Amino acid sequence: MAEYSTKQRKALIRFLSTHPDELFTVEQIAEGLAEEDEKRTGEGEKAESGEGSAAGISRSSVYRNLPALEAAGLVKRVSIPGRREVFYRFKGSPSCRGCIHLSCRSCGRIFHLGSETSAKLAEYISENGGFTLDRTDTVISGICAKCKSRNGNLNRQT
Ligand SMILES: [Zn+2]
Ligand SMILES: [Zn+2]
Repeated sequence: MAEYSTKQRKALIRFLSTHPDELFTVEQIAEGLAEEDEKRTGEGEKAESGEGSAAGISRSSVYRNLPALEAAGLVKRVSIPGRREVFYRFKGSPSCRGCIHLSCRSCGRIFHLGSETSAKLAEYISENGGFTLDRTDTVISGICAKCKSRNGNLNRQT
């Protein structure tokens, strides 16, 4: 039992860590995992395991496993203003360490500021606001450059 859930957790981490700067709903994670499974078992070995697919992760087991990953500090729950779904983001990626993340309200994509810029911003806030930012936990919401230029003409008249 414990071993089985470890296997699922590993599959979850493997999936999320290959998409470090993306937001996923539980549904999207389950779908992504199923897709990966299909790729791996595509060579006609499907009948091999009775559990269904290799990782055999259903939506409900994604739900069950996420809190543990969250508690371990590997996954961060993100809510986006104006969106009802809850998103999850992998935060164990080395390239994301010490970076402040930016979330686009329009397209939902996540970007990260370089660690140097992030450090400077944190320093500025600390010096001027007397507030110490938790960089790994910070997701700033706004509009990305792409969406801004796409909507630029529409918004100009305001
Ligand atoms: Zn990142
Ligand atoms: Zn955008």
